[in-house]
Amino acid sequence: MGRKFVVGGNWKMNGDKKQILEILQNLKISTDTEVILGVPALYIEYVISNLPPNVQVAAQNCYKVPNGAFTGEISPAMIKDVGAKWVILGHSERRNIFNETDVLVAEKVAHALESGLKVIACIGEKLEEREAGKTEEVVFRQTKAIVEKIKPKDWSNVVLAYEPVWAIGTGKTATPAQAQEVHQALRKWLKETVSPEVAESTRIQYGGSVTGANAKELAAQPDIDGFLVGGASLKPEFAIIINAKQ
Ligand code: PGA
Repeated sequence: MGRKFVVGGNWKMNGDKKQILEILQNLKISTDTEVILGVPALYIEYVISNLPPNVQVAAQNCYKVPNGAFTGEISPAMIKDVGAKWVILGHSERRNIFNETDVLVAEKVAHALESGLKVIACIGEKLEEREAGKTEEVVFRQTKAIVEKIKPKDWSNVVLAYEPVWAIGTGKTATPAQAQEVHQALRKWLKETVSPEVAESTRIQYGGSVTGANAKELAAQPDIDGFLVGGASLKPEFAIIINAKQ
């Protein structure tokens, strides 16, 4: 199969220079996992100048055009210019607090890829959608919006992050079986909708209350290719999560 395990840390709106140095110190570890830190844009250069070997940096958002009159926004070109290679897009906090639609997220994904950034694209259902039996419908709809805006070859620069909204920051992790069920369904859907090659090679992370204690069991699922980690990525246990597959 050969999908390299990939773990992202999503710091969200957390951290200052002192805490950043502590976090980075803790990541001087040897690992076969691809590690990507999603840091506040203001600190991208500071993180890069203190980065342990083999760790990459992502922005947590960007806009859908290269420049212009968009006060407060940043572009993929700017993210690249300061040295980061990745951007996290479509996080449920962007979708639900800042009202980003499926189409806007897809436009951002397309522009980021065209600009030469790699993308962690987040999808996931809310609790009421899961309870109404709509989990697959929601994640397929969110992913379809992206499929419609990017070329099949672009998928080599995309990591999908399945993050059930009810599991984010709640301590209610999806069980390994619940997560595997959605990841497997998503891979099958990619096979039918994009291509067997894209389905086979695209890495799908799980996110939502991943901890040092539950990471190993989740990582053992055949269709879970990594994690996107919020709260625990600020703590020493992030190093345990990174090595959950070993
Ligand atoms: P959490 O957040 O690990 O704190 O649940 C995950 C995320 O929002 O990516």
